[in-house]
Amino acid sequence: MPRRVCGFCGGADVSKEHVFPKWIGRLLDTNDRYRVAFVRPQRAKDWVQLDIGIQVHMPCKRCNSGWMSDLERRVQPILTPMMTSGGRMPLDIDDQTLVAGWISKTVMVLEYAGEDEPFYTADERRLMMEAQIPPDRTWIWAGRYLGRVRGHWSVLGLGFQVSDGRTIPGKCTTFSLGQVAVQMFSYRSRKGPAVQLNEVPMATGPWDTSLHSLWPVLTNGLEWPPTHHFNDEGLARLEARLTQRPPLLWRVRRGK
Ligand SMILES: [Zn+2]
Repeated sequence: MPRRVCGFCGGADVSKEHVFPKWIGRLLDTNDRYRVAFVRPQRAKDWVQLDIGIQVHMPCKRCNSGWMSDLERRVQPILTPMMTSGGRMPLDIDDQTLVAGWISKTVMVLEYAGEDEPFYTADERRLMMEAQIPPDRTWIWAGRYLGRVRGHWSVLGLGFQVSDGRTIPGKCTTFSLGQVAVQMFSYRSRKGPAVQLNEVPMATGPWDTSLHSLWPVLTNGLEWPPTHHFNDEGLARLEARLTQRPPLLWRVRRGK
């Protein structure tokens, strides 16, 4: 059996940790069912579990109780109202960077809950540990969600072609926690110019009015929440907007 090393620092002493930290579980009181979906080009997987207490063997104790716990502590005052009330609040550059960093950290830990090889590289995880900022070639959005589930996450592996003929692999992770829905999309390209967002095939939708772009940071004066919110159907469309496939059907109902 291969020796487990920390996904961030490479150190030993890896422990089993919650992907979504306990303060979020307590805050959202997630007795509701929690929806999980993996969508890959070859096969799709979709299941429902009872809470958001997903645990992974990924960070070491030192990372978890050090910079990761510090990141949780700093993001908590911003994320809490976003998850629970949707009340109006300004998000400045520092807030957006902090939330985008937290989303990237969560997505990188989440990768270890699946069976696939991680999309993000050891260098990108190390950068996360050192600077708590998202990796290059990444966009992150956030919107408000008012629907039936307390939380969900979905992972989409994809490849798309750009105008010069290159096929670019990418990964899109969407998750919701309470009233906030986020999406992180990254791509790999070793050669050629950087991909522009308008080269990424995207289903039409009310993205401009229901999503704020958190990363790259575009403006200092972002007002939360966006004008429109997502309902269940909207969230399903959001998670599938980078694929030609129809959105997965939502099978989760409140309670049993
Ligand atoms: Zn570590």
